[in-house]
Amino acid sequence: MPINIGDILKGQYKVCRKLGWGHFSTVWLCQNLSNDGPIYVALKICKSAQMFTVVAQDEIKLLRDTKLIDPLHMGYRHIVQMVDTFKLLSVNGVHTAISMEIMGPSLLHLLIQSDFRGIHLSGVKRIITQVLKGLTYLHERCRIIHTDIKPENILIKVDENYIKNIIGKTEKFAELGIDMPRSYVASDCWIDKDRSIRDSDENILSKFEEQRGQSYPYDKFLGELPDFRRRHCEPRLNAPMWVSPNIEIKIADLGNACWEEHHFSSEIQTRQYRALEVILGSGYSFPADIWSVGCMCFEMATGEMLFSPKGEREPAANLDHLCLIWETLGGIPQYITENGTNVRHYFTNGELLGVDRKLLRIWKIEDVLVEKYKWKRVDAIPFAGFLESLIEPDPALRLTASMALQSEWITMNE
Ligand code: ATP
Ligand code: MG
Ligand code: MG
Repeated sequence: MPINIGDILKGQYKVCRKLGWGHFSTVWLCQNLSNDGPIYVALKICKSAQMFTVVAQDEIKLLRDTKLIDPLHMGYRHIVQMVDTFKLLSVNGVHTAISMEIMGPSLLHLLIQSDFRGIHLSGVKRIITQVLKGLTYLHERCRIIHTDIKPENILIKVDENYIKNIIGKTEKFAELGIDMPRSYVASDCWIDKDRSIRDSDENILSKFEEQRGQSYPYDKFLGELPDFRRRHCEPRLNAPMWVSPNIEIKIADLGNACWEEHHFSSEIQTRQYRALEVILGSGYSFPADIWSVGCMCFEMATGEMLFSPKGEREPAANLDHLCLIWETLGGIPQYITENGTNVRHYFTNGELLGVDRKLLRIWKIEDVLVEKYKWKRVDAIPFAGFLESLIEPDPALRLTASMALQSEWITMNE
C-alpha cells in the first residue's frame, strides 16, 4: 500500500517514519493525533491479499487474548500490546492495520551493536528473565505458543524523548529536501549511524558483495549477517558489551503464534531456533518456545548462534541440525528418536542415518564456553547448566517458563 511520511490514516494517525517490515506487513511509527491512547504508536499495515488478511485476523485474536486475559499478571508488560485495529483501503484492496505500543530496536540490533561480541551476562540475565516472564503469561495464562522466539522479535523499550528525537531527525531531512539516508528508510533504522559498528557493517557488506560478485540488498544482508560472521570471522574474544542496567524488553510479533489447542502449521519456528521435537515431527507445545529461549540466551551471551545448520534443502539441513544438537547434548536418547513423522528419514536404531558416529565431535556447552569463548569455568558451569535445562531433548522434561524463572542461574546473585 503506498504510504507517505506525513499521511494521516483513519483521520488520527500521522505517519512519521518507517520502523521495519516483514513478510506480512510494513510497520510505521505514527503520531496519534486523537486525545485517546498513547501519543506514539507502531502501526502494522498488513498486505492486502486474502491470505495475509486471514493471518492478520488470527494475529488480532491472539493479541486480543493477551490484552484481555490477565492485565495484572507479572508477564503482561513483557508482551507488546495492541492499541487499536482498523481497515485501510488502497488501490490494491483492503489492508488490516494494527496499532501497537511503540518499541525501540530489537535484540538483533543490540547484537549488531555489540559487533557480535555478545552482551554482558548481567544484561543477558535481565533480558532472559523478562522473556521468561512474558512466556509464563503467554503459556500459562493465555495458552498461546509464540512459535517464533528469536532476537528480531524481542523489542527494547525506549522512552518518549528517544522517539521524539528520531522524528526530529526525520523532519530535518524533509525540511532540507534531502533524500533520507538508507538507515532512515530501512529496517535497521535503530542503529546509530555515528557508531563505528556501522562502518564495520559496511565493510562486511562489501566483503560479502565481493564474494558474491554482485550488489546485495542491505536488509537481506542484515538477515544473513550472523551466519556470515560465523563462517568468516574468528570468534571475538574481546569483552562483551554492557547494556543499561534497567533495560526493558517485550515479546513482539504474534503473527505466527497459535493456541495450544489450535495449531496452524506443523512446521514452526525460524530454523536456528527450531526445537528438536519440531524437526522430528513428534508434536509440539509450549516447550518449543523454551528451546528457542535457550538458543537465544546462548546467542545473547556469546554473539553467535548456538545452532547454525548448513544447507537449505531437506533432508540435508535437518540432518546437519540434528548432528549439531547431538554434538552439543552429547547424544539424543533413543526413545526420542523413535517417535515422530520425520524420524525415519534421520534415525535408525537411535543412530543418525548415514552419519559416521566417529565424525561427530561431542562438544558440550560448558566446554564450548571455556575453550572457544575463553570463559572462566566458574561462569561457564552454571550458565551451561541453565541452557541445558532449556534445550532438554524431551519436551516433557524441559523446564517450563515459570520453572526456569526459579532456576539457579536466574535467581543466583552475581
Ligand atoms: P515477520 O516476517 O517477522 O512475520 P511481520 O510482517 O509479521 O514480519 P513484524 O515482525 O510484526 O512483521 O514487524 C516487522 C518489524 O517492524 C519488526 O521486526 C520490528 O523491526 C518492527 N516493529 C514491529 N512492531 C513494532 C513495535 N511495536 N514497535 C517498534 N517496531 C516494531
Ligand atoms: Mg517478525
Ligand atoms: Mg509475523
